[in-house]
Amino acid sequence: MSDTQIKDIVIVGGGTAGWMTAAAMGKMLNRRYRIRLIESDEISTVGVGEATIPKIKLFNMALGLDENEFIKFTQGTFKLGIEFVNWGRIGESYIHGFGDIGRDMGLIEFYQYWLRAKQIADVPDLQAYSLNNVAAKQDKFMRAIDAGHSPLSRIANAFHFDAGLYARYLRLYAEAHGVQRLEGKIVDTLLRDKDGFVDAVAMENGMKISGDLFIDCSGFRGLLIEQALKTGYEDWSHWLPCDRALAVPTAISKPPTPYTRATAHKAGWQWRIPLQHRVGNGHVYSSRFISDDEATSILLNHLDAPTLTEPRLLKFTTGKRKKCWNKNVVAIGLSSGFMEPLESTSIHLIQSSVARLLSLLPNRDFDQTDIDEYNRQCDYEVERIRDFLILHYKATQRDDSAFWNYCRTMEIPPELARRIKLYEANGRIYRDQDELFASVGWLQVMHGQGLRPKAYHPLAELLTPQENLQFLEIQKAQVDQAAAAMPSHADFIAKHCAAPQPQRVMMQA
Ligand SMILES: Cc1cc2nc3c(=O)[nH]c(=O)nc-3n(C[C@H](O)[C@H](O)[C@H](O)COP(=O)(O)OP(=O)(O)OC[C@H]3O[C@@H](n4cnc5c(N)ncnc54)[C@H](O)[C@@H]3O)c2cc1C
Repeated sequence: MSDTQIKDIVIVGGGTAGWMTAAAMGKMLNRRYRIRLIESDEISTVGVGEATIPKIKLFNMALGLDENEFIKFTQGTFKLGIEFVNWGRIGESYIHGFGDIGRDMGLIEFYQYWLRAKQIADVPDLQAYSLNNVAAKQDKFMRAIDAGHSPLSRIANAFHFDAGLYARYLRLYAEAHGVQRLEGKIVDTLLRDKDGFVDAVAMENGMKISGDLFIDCSGFRGLLIEQALKTGYEDWSHWLPCDRALAVPTAISKPPTPYTRATAHKAGWQWRIPLQHRVGNGHVYSSRFISDDEATSILLNHLDAPTLTEPRLLKFTTGKRKKCWNKNVVAIGLSSGFMEPLESTSIHLIQSSVARLLSLLPNRDFDQTDIDEYNRQCDYEVERIRDFLILHYKATQRDDSAFWNYCRTMEIPPELARRIKLYEANGRIYRDQDELFASVGWLQVMHGQGLRPKAYHPLAELLTPQENLQFLEIQKAQVDQAAAAMPSHADFIAKHCAAPQPQRVMMQA
């Protein structure tokens, strides 16, 4: 190892962020660095990150995890998308399914043919052309298979899992890959006089842990990035006004749905995430518009099975750290910011931050150009996700509460305003390079919440009206046929990845 290379990496925190970082670094850095992770049994983790997006499969693949074993260990289930209830209007719902909707043809997307067909005949809603959406509504699931042009080849899925068990699973993996775990509470951070870099952290038991690179995975408190380095935070609560969540698990009352449900309430929304051994529920709300007591009673009145614990309150401010990498500290996980769990993006951001850090791994000189590039890429990624989340609140016709009136009429970032305008004009949606959500994701939320383009793409008229309708009919028939061939989600789990001792908490009959 040359003298310019860093040798010692210290990860502060053992929640999902800490152990994902440790697992990836343990594997990728292949014991060429000393990697230590410090966590305190006295300070609990957030422990509610239970829903993911399909990119997590890349993370699992990079680690070489066996997917069935991972699901068994974490009491996991499969996720085809998110059902949004009462977002556009009360009584309406739609699914943001992963994967595509219909097949594109020629130069234009499927939905342009659908927009045109809608003007010719009474065709089914756009969702009828997405296998993910149709299968989700029928509680069916299977992994994509090689089936030629059938939509079965293009099923896209993510997972629901128990966040505590996921961290435990990754801890076993990381320790097997050489990561050393240190238990104890950090009580101080020691900075170098010459440049203000972190030199070491001091533990309650008197130990000092020094390092070259520190990764702050200490959660909302941002022990190093904020408490020691005073990096600053960009507050986005004027756009994403929810600032509290009450989380409560319930018993299982029915087979697990292969999707997350997000039900809008008067000042926020409620999640429902089915696992093998319990169901995760939570109410995310804005304390400016509703009290904790009222939020609690809304949550408890909208559960479909008995609770297993008392609701747990979590407070947060939506936004991001001004710099995720400052000096020799990189903030990953909640210490880097939080945008609320509506589209299950936080665990993905941990994954992409680790990948970015590995790609820009520093030498001892900590070149500022690399640090700036890291921060530029992080900002770009989270700002695009932020805009996608704001869309859910802005694109509503709800006027039944002060919260929804605020959201419907609030100023939005110019980039989001541009996208909405472009869609409303001629149904055009473009995915920027490296942006997380694909055009089809934007389409489902814009369409699902009632935005409608004034016109369709002129090239859709290259088909005769009859050909256009037939094109749609074929797509729908393929989706229906594929859905009919799929097993139920519960059967799929039972066959491939049922937890061996599920300790299921069944509801009393
Ligand atoms: C309400 C809510 C719902 C969410 N739902 C989802 C979801 O569905 N999908 C998703 O992707 N994400 C979700 N998230 C986000 C997800 O939970 C987090 O991204 C993830 O858990 C990472 O948390 P973390 O590891 O950064 O922090 P934490 O879980 O808070 O872990 C912090 C760690 O730091 C340690 N620590 C702190 N201080 C000290 C100290 N002084 N000394 C030693 N150790 C210390 C603690 O012991 C702990 O191990 C949700 C978040 C919230 C708040």
